Amino acid sequence: NQKITILDLPFINTTQEKFNQELVKRLQKKLNTFIVTANPEIAVYAHDNPAYKQLIQQADYITPDGIGIVKASQMLNKPLTERITGFDTLTSLLEIANNHSLKIYLLGAKPEIIQQTVQNIQQKYTNLQLVGYNDGYFTDKQPIVADIKEKQPNIVAVALGYPKQEEFIARNRNISDAVWIGVGGSFDVLSG
Ligand code: UDP
Repeated sequence: NQKITILDLPFINTTQEKFNQELVKRLQKKLNTFIVTANPEIAVYAHDNPAYKQLIQQADYITPDGIGIVKASQMLNKPLTERITGFDTLTSLLEIANNHSLKIYLLGAKPEIIQQTVQNIQQKYTNLQLVGYNDGYFTDKQPIVADIKEKQPNIVAVALGYPKQEEFIARNRNISDAVWIGVGGSFDVLSG
């Protein structure tokens, strides 16, 4: 599948449906996977911050998260098929995890938000294994890293906002051969 480069970021050019199928395969093979769902703010921030740009260029997938990226691709005469958001991809991953009884770990958002998110997910997706979670306002990351390492989740959803979530993933993804994804404000939505 051809990538489409905007502001030096190689975006995958596919549909949510096909992307989900690819993720199922990678989950079955336990391939370590880093997904960046890049909205215009992230693309501009990366343009201005070379270190962050380098870090997200290491991702296995950069998806166009937002109509602004799709519009830009059209103006540049290299149109992206559709937008693939962090929220939709997280929802897809929850469904996949539920279908295949996979282990998922959630990191981020305020304490009361993450607790409500965990409750809502457990109620709706009774077959997935929610193996651990932590809020996103920690001072020492080591206990969290140790917890993820021990639980060996298949999926780690990190909601710390950018650039923190991508920095956390890039530095720690080696501790579990999971699909790691930065999901921005998704837990705030799922808690509602
Ligand atoms: N957040 C967090 N720890 C932090 C800063 C932010 O857990 O140190 C959470 C915040 O509570 C919210 C999410 O990260 O749930 C950021 O959401 P936002 O929509 O701002 O995402 P962004 O657009 O910044 O990626």
